[in-house]
Amino acid sequence: MSPGSKSRLLKGQTCYHPSLAALGILVSEWLSRTHQEWKLKLGMAWILAGIALFVVAIVAGALSVPWLVVVLAFCVAGFGWTALAIRCSACRRRVVYWVMLREPGHGWLARMLKVDRCPVCGDSAAPRS
Ligand SMILES: [Zn+2]
Repeated sequence: MSPGSKSRLLKGQTCYHPSLAALGILVSEWLSRTHQEWKLKLGMAWILAGIALFVVAIVAGALSVPWLVVVLAFCVAGFGWTALAIRCSACRRRVVYWVMLREPGHGWLARMLKVDRCPVCGDSAAPRS
């Protein structure tokens, strides 16, 4: 056992696994300051629930066209809600939608988990005194 392995273990207890960040448990500073982190978490849970429904239907052998339509609609609704629900309090833009248009693939989620200010107008949502 190398001396480094113990410190890695201790570090592992205080740090979140990256998959938890992807689930929206760790959200960006800006989202918590604007009190919108729950919207991203709900959106992620919504989309993951849709994927889980899809997997359950496949495993149960119940994947039919109506099922597929329902699950797809459920996922699209969750995705759309996430895109449209999160707004900047300064510029009132739909920030996630704005980022989605500019970050190809899943880059928008990584960016939304990191932003410390509004990606559109740069407002940091810091309390003004
Ligand atoms: Zn803004």
